[in-house]
Amino acid sequence: MQNQQNKFEILRMPPANTNSILVSSGGDAAIFDPWGRVDDWGRVLDARGLNLRAIYATHGHPDHISAAPGLAEKYSVPWYMATADNELIGWGGELLDYFGIPRICTHCVHPVSIDTGRHMLLDAIPMDVIAAPGHTPGGLCFHFPREKILITGDTLFRDGYGRYDFPGGDRRVLFDSISRLHNMNLPDDTYVVHGHGPDSTIDILRRENPYFR
Ligand SMILES: [Zn+2]
Repeated sequence: MQNQQNKFEILRMPPANTNSILVSSGGDAAIFDPWGRVDDWGRVLDARGLNLRAIYATHGHPDHISAAPGLAEKYSVPWYMATADNELIGWGGELLDYFGIPRICTHCVHPVSIDTGRHMLLDAIPMDVIAAPGHTPGGLCFHFPREKILITGDTLFRDGYGRYDFPGGDRRVLFDSISRLHNMNLPDDTYVVHGHGPDSTIDILRRENPYFR
């Protein structure tokens, strides 16, 4: 997914589990949901000659932020996440143990809160931040109207929806968030990157995901 200047790459960092997204514009980069290890991300950035400018998390689960504090500290960049998910930082360390990923340093770097609505990612790419609670209290989706890309995190998957039985999860709130996404009436050819599993499009979701309504 690329135009002349801006590039979106979906990266399944080792040990493959979560879909992370590396966005670059010129020599600047932002990472969404930095799963994996800080050193592996450092190699990715170095290989592409990119300067990390910001980190964004769809939510505060460990498989979406495992490298966030370390990257924020190493590169002195902000890590943006909804404040309502701050209390989740450090929760679920057993998942990281299972994958052999270092546990999250809960006192190193704290996320910066981010408002919903229109932002300019890397001063170059229009980005709408959408509140999508339910999987977690502070769930966010990120929509790029010009590139026609939507990042859903674990709110929605290609053929289902995220779990609502973790701390702070709520089934009714999750389904309200999914219907708000549906009711945005995004173009059919909007490319959708989910927190896990295969990507989709709005058209595929409309036709194949019975919960996207
Ligand atoms: Zn999650």
